[in-house]
Amino acid sequence: MSLREPALLGRLKAQIAQDGPISVPEYFTRCLHDPRDGYYANRPALGSDGDFVTAPGVSQMFGELVGLWLMETWDRLGRPAPFRLVEMGPGDGTLMSDILRAARLLPAFLEAADLWLVEVSPVLRAAQEKTLAGASVQWAGRLEEVPAGAPLLLVANELLDCLPARQFVKTQDGWAERVVGLGEDGELAFGLRKLGPPPLGEAARRAGGGAFSAAAAADVLRSLPPPSTSSTPPPQGEDLAVGAILESSPAQAALGSELGHRLARDGGAALLIDYGRATSEPGDTLQAIRAHRKEGPLDNPGQADLTVWADFPSVLEAARRAGASAPPVITQGDFLRALGIEARAQALAAARPDRAEVVARQLDRLTGAAQMGDLFKVACLSAPGLNPPLFEDEA
Ligand code: SAH
Repeated sequence: MSLREPALLGRLKAQIAQDGPISVPEYFTRCLHDPRDGYYANRPALGSDGDFVTAPGVSQMFGELVGLWLMETWDRLGRPAPFRLVEMGPGDGTLMSDILRAARLLPAFLEAADLWLVEVSPVLRAAQEKTLAGASVQWAGRLEEVPAGAPLLLVANELLDCLPARQFVKTQDGWAERVVGLGEDGELAFGLRKLGPPPLGEAARRAGGGAFSAAAAADVLRSLPPPSTSSTPPPQGEDLAVGAILESSPAQAALGSELGHRLARDGGAALLIDYGRATSEPGDTLQAIRAHRKEGPLDNPGQADLTVWADFPSVLEAARRAGASAPPVITQGDFLRALGIEARAQALAAARPDRAEVVARQLDRLTGAAQMGDLFKVACLSAPGLNPPLFEDEA
């Protein structure tokens, strides 16, 4: 190990050499949230000078229209006061700032709102304090710290993609789980761990240290709880070719479930916006981004943003099982157009003709099919019977 090696890489390699390979979710969580060297602990950088740009950073229109949707939903709830206005993973605070500006149209909404931000990153929390200076905001580290007892209106943009997925690979002899181990050269390398209770010999069980090997992988398997039905590949996986990858995110499903329980109990709605799949389909979506460039997920642990696609089918299913209503997702393009983004863009361009071209580009970036319009989806979880705008039950 060189002295200049980044701290997290060195610590991960030492841990894996001693205890054997780790699962993709464990690797992902260490990279994002290691208290000392994780990406979100240290250097989350949004915006054009940073690592990635999100929809609120593209244009103020995004947050304004989300604000409009929240106000309309509050109206359909019967204008409860107070209600909890919650954003999870608020980044640099831009989205909430645009929501609050749009809500000046409806002062009663702002008066009734008990505003909470759920944030795990101390660096981003400081950014939010700055962006939202003057607003009455409270912070929580977890959703469950936001007090119950009032309806919830929650928004989370690009949060699901920060919640890791296990990855399953179809091999000649059945399904295996992708893990992170050490290659022959001692560097981080992806490997496979067979699924199911394998016949483990004493030799395999002791082969933990040193180079990554099938035997070392088997050793780790021993220490894991047996795969539950929800985390093993779904039955349609049987038709897939050797080499196919399926992802399953217990963490995303757990958020769907927690929100579902809460909405069924306290009332309200949650809007989850992210890039991801609307139906179950195979594919490796693990991605690392640094300074707007894709790099290998193992290249720079802790220094790049790691994401996976939101797995909307399992989030919706978990919310329904918890008692909430969760209609199919719609695309971000359809969501924003239905809320009037084209008219809003025209108004902004008319007010500042010198910026008309910029606004047209922003509109295309948010709604264009080749841009964010189709890949990004909007899910709405709600208390049964609420019928939030654009997510009404079919009559
Ligand atoms: N919503 C913002 C920021 C997206 S970046 C925007 O659209 O610009 C992801 C956000 O989720 C960050 O605020 C990050 O700190 C937060 N986050 C990441 N992992 C999280 C976790 N496990 N629990 C809660 N928040 C998390």
